[in-house]
Amino acid sequence: MTAKIPCAVLGATGAVGQRFIQLLEGHPWFEVVAVCASERSAGQSYSGAVDGRWKLPTRIPENVGGLTVKECKPADLNARIAFSGLDAGVAGSIEEEFARAGYAVVSNSRNHRMDADVPLLVPEANESHLKAIELQRKRFGRGLIVTDPNCSTIGMALALAPLHQKWGVEKVGVVTMQAISGAGYPGVASLDVVDNVVPYIAGEEEKMETEAKKILGKWSGTAFEFAPVTVSASCNRVPTVDGHLESVSFSLRAQVEREEIMEAWRTWKPLKALKLPSAPEQPVVYREEADRPQPRLDRMEGHGMSVVVGRLRECPLLGWKMSVLSHNTIRGAAGAAILNAELLKARGYL
Ligand code: NAP
Repeated sequence: MTAKIPCAVLGATGAVGQRFIQLLEGHPWFEVVAVCASERSAGQSYSGAVDGRWKLPTRIPENVGGLTVKECKPADLNARIAFSGLDAGVAGSIEEEFARAGYAVVSNSRNHRMDADVPLLVPEANESHLKAIELQRKRFGRGLIVTDPNCSTIGMALALAPLHQKWGVEKVGVVTMQAISGAGYPGVASLDVVDNVVPYIAGEEEKMETEAKKILGKWSGTAFEFAPVTVSASCNRVPTVDGHLESVSFSLRAQVEREEIMEAWRTWKPLKALKLPSAPEQPVVYREEADRPQPRLDRMEGHGMSVVVGRLRECPLLGWKMSVLSHNTIRGAAGAAILNAELLKARGYL
């Protein structure tokens, strides 16, 4: 049996950090050996630091609960991978420091997503973007940074990717209904969101409109070529706990039949041969029922790693419309980052 790759979790006490700790428990390739957060948490045991704010229904894994939380400094952690769920206010410089120290930084934060040499990775959709890491050697030597997309972008991008690869997506109009956990903990005040919908999430629409172009674009060998896709996003916070639901209208660059779109989703299994532990068997799952997908019922499809699509129908404005659901802290954050790290390992980057 080969030894597991030692990992640190940066921002381990937050909503995404907790998901990392949960999803990495018993992982066949990776093992959490260090947990890091702000100086407010540093020095306490992990169990003590998250006391009263561990918000997952599973217990804190025993091997992590007793670890002492450290500040986010790369020295002496003895890890190869740094999974980052850091607050975006501090993630940029800390992640660079870890990459310069030789870590493979696999991040959820927005800070490096649009860097010219950083893959905005969705393994099923744009594995070829990993080649951009060669450009990072100048900055980081043996270290590297790979990011995953914003939690509302990833569901839309996964549903569109197989269609874009076959026919080209031209225009997208998306309206989101985003869960409260997307804002971290304690996040949105209950008095703001209970019995309410907030039609604004700072920075979210811009992220959806720009990140999708990079994800669906190409790596030319020296630079990312953004996909010529126009996205218009309207983002809303709704009182669900987990799972972002989106109404997506889109136009394709070819005339296709509904059954061809369904077939494109059904047969799209680009990672199958790699057998990555976190890759869902079916990345895009289609539900035929008229009232699906729903956050409470469908967010754990594929262990929270599949995107669930339903209600594909003709749209008088753009040609097609559908409902898309993805789990924001699993496929939209920690689970996506772990899948990214698995791809890095499978392709020899670790
Ligand atoms: P969160 O619950 O607020 O957690 C933030 C984490 O950052 C905590 O561990 C916190 O440690 C740490 N931190 C804050 N200030 C720090 C500092 N000065 N130095 C070191 N560590 C510091 O936020 P979250 O929802 O988990 O989000 C984390 C990141 O992932 C954000 O960049 C967010 O945009 C992104 N993201 C979130 C989601 C989601 O669904 N929630 C999805 C995709 C991406 P302390 O506990 O010690 O303060």
